[in-house]
Amino acid sequence: MATDTALTTEKLILPSDQDSSGRELGDEEMLNLAAAIESGTLTSTKGEFVKSLEVRFAASLGVPHCYASSSGTAALHTALAAIDPEPGDEVVTTSITDMGALTPIIYQSAIPVFADVDPVTYNVTAETIEKVLSTRTKAIMVTHLFGNPCRMEPIMELARSRNIPVIEDCAQAFGAEINGRKVGTFGDIGCFSLQQGKHITTGEGGLCVTANADLGRRMYLFINKAWGYGDPKPDHYFLALNYRMNELTGAVAAAQLTKLDDFVERRTRLANLMTAGLQGLPGVRPPAVDDGFKHTYWKYCLQVDGSKLEGGLDALAGRLKERGVFCAPRYIQKPAFECQVLREQRTFGNSRFPFTLARPEAVDYSRERYPGTYAALASVLVLPLNEKYTELHIQQVVEVIRTAVDQIVKG
Ligand SMILES: *Cc1c(COP(=O)(O)O)cnc(C)c1O
Repeated sequence: MATDTALTTEKLILPSDQDSSGRELGDEEMLNLAAAIESGTLTSTKGEFVKSLEVRFAASLGVPHCYASSSGTAALHTALAAIDPEPGDEVVTTSITDMGALTPIIYQSAIPVFADVDPVTYNVTAETIEKVLSTRTKAIMVTHLFGNPCRMEPIMELARSRNIPVIEDCAQAFGAEINGRKVGTFGDIGCFSLQQGKHITTGEGGLCVTANADLGRRMYLFINKAWGYGDPKPDHYFLALNYRMNELTGAVAAAQLTKLDDFVERRTRLANLMTAGLQGLPGVRPPAVDDGFKHTYWKYCLQVDGSKLEGGLDALAGRLKERGVFCAPRYIQKPAFECQVLREQRTFGNSRFPFTLARPEAVDYSRERYPGTYAALASVLVLPLNEKYTELHIQQVVEVIRTAVDQIVKG
């Protein structure tokens, strides 16, 4: 009896991806870091760590070109700058993503145009993208949200039929696959983030990959102030930034990369255990994964039917938090287009540029155009997961969820 009570009130202490409890950073990173410091060469233009990271990451995806950058945002900016839209051109993106996937579009003077998402997978689809394409669409940028791949085959078919390049935002989807093929290799460019909370981390950092040599060349240049290193007559060829990763970051990234497959395997195995443990629970549905798809669980999301629970999604989230499961109901809370920067078009001074060039329909954020987005955000409960979780942690979290649902389930 006493143990029963203890079991149902105990507060869990779970590994956090914000510190060493949930991040596997150790001797391998330290050794590389020491070597970088001893070498005295901390810029990637002269050092070896970033170069070897790029070569190895490209090889891991089976693509010829990879460039490291200072963040995932920088990687996405680099990708779009390589495609080089005209001011006022449109880039189709998703209403549920990180702001780091959206601000680069505006900085490149293009208009983000939001496709709705599937309310079950939370991802954009060929159908939702097609609805917002126009003659001004210059690129499509998809996010594989939470590590679950977008349905890339129909998306690529649509994009190829219109001759529109596709950027895959894989910041949350390291190792994710469709029928054995890794995300990041379906589109023209794939982008990844090494930010503190991602599958592998250097605190901040990014990677972008492509099989297209021309895009690769432009990506390399954009990261390097468009300076033609090694050319017979180098110059600053076009407008570009310094988005280089430094060697200290490259040293840590090189060590993290050797652990990536293991981390992906652990996350996937643990998430599958969680799904098995939650089978048959009323009002909550485990992540929906298509046949042949490999979801790599940056986060583990439950789809909650609030109408089945007393107090709905918030009541469930509150009970989980009380027990130490720091979940996030509604993920980013509101569709990306409701954020202040987009709502008010606060950009450069008071110019509103580039939105001054937008077709009215491209920036029509009426609620009825986004049924999937609102349904997704109203029902999603994001649970944390990282490489330091054990099977016991998963059993405990399952128990906490089962107990909470039992306590508030209706009828
Ligand atoms: C983290 C993230 C980014 C941005 O990466 P940073 O490294 O934080 O700049 C972009 N898109 C998605 C989907 C992300 O999760």
